[in-house]
Amino acid sequence: MYDCFGSIHIHTRYSDGSGSIPEIAKSAEKAGLDFIIITDHNHLRGKPEEGYYGKVLVMVGSEINLECNHYLGIDIAEEIPPNDEVPQQVIDGVRNQGGIGFLAHPCEIGSPVYKNGKTYPWTDWEVTGFTGMDIWSYLSQWRDGISSIPKGFYLYFNPHQAFRRGPHQASLEKWDQLLRDRMVVGIGCSDAHAIKINLGPWKPVLSDYYTCFRCINTHLTLNKQLSGDLKSDKAVIKQALQSGRCFVGYNFFKSAKGFRFVAESRGHIINMGERTPAKGTVLKVDTPSKAKVVLVKDGRPYLQNTGQKHRFRQLKPGIYRVEAYHRHGLGYRAWIYSNPIYLD
Ligand SMILES: [Zn+2]
Ligand SMILES: [Zn+2]
Repeated sequence: MYDCFGSIHIHTRYSDGSGSIPEIAKSAEKAGLDFIIITDHNHLRGKPEEGYYGKVLVMVGSEINLECNHYLGIDIAEEIPPNDEVPQQVIDGVRNQGGIGFLAHPCEIGSPVYKNGKTYPWTDWEVTGFTGMDIWSYLSQWRDGISSIPKGFYLYFNPHQAFRRGPHQASLEKWDQLLRDRMVVGIGCSDAHAIKINLGPWKPVLSDYYTCFRCINTHLTLNKQLSGDLKSDKAVIKQALQSGRCFVGYNFFKSAKGFRFVAESRGHIINMGERTPAKGTVLKVDTPSKAKVVLVKDGRPYLQNTGQKHRFRQLKPGIYRVEAYHRHGLGYRAWIYSNPIYLD
């Protein structure tokens, strides 16, 4: 199995980001990423610039909608008009073009320092037909941590403190709830903008590309390495994102590359996003280094193990996903969130 990882949800200077696609690709290459997915607001102006930039594959989708219900449309050829009120139209628009789509930063909390707590949440939970949702979002969670101006300065210089305990609880709860009905693929997002602020002699950059690219990444578990051919590699990435053969890692302190979560049943391997009978099945989790692994069943912590190879046997039917935490200082830091395997 091969682990290919990248950053999803990025803005360029074609919308409210500050970098060009070649500049952003350069930051991604420096961060060691295999792919990035650009999603400017409500257009596909960057689409002609899709391609390989050195070792990094750049794909261009779009973040659709304005004040709420932001939807990431990937692998679409035509622009889709925003529809905040009826996001089902947007989801269907992406689907009708054969694309895949994810609810972006669905459960935001807001910060009193940013527009009096303004958020851009997902509000319409009656929608169907979306591929998945963003379960861990860099920019929105970082901003949500800014409860005051001093805290803003603190988190500017110590951004990782905003992510120590993992994604927003509301986001994971919503995801677990949706998973009861059907597979909803969880991904991690940057929402990198590299917003340049001019404070006289001090010019801070918020959500700069390079920092974002080293934090929350989406890892794809592939059967073979990417080939270097744009068209076929795009299809491979799309397939892994669509089926849920992927997991989210916070890579800044420890790389999640090589994490593996599979079920083994009568000699067969079942991957994330798939289902198999519970009887006789072993869930196997391998972490790249020693970690505390929590096996979550139907949205609740169920079993726990510390080490590098984690085996769970004699399990009851349920929806199983994995959270891994690595040692950091005196405690643990949230590290890896897998997609689920369904045991029937
Ligand atoms: Zn957004
Ligand atoms: Zn965005």
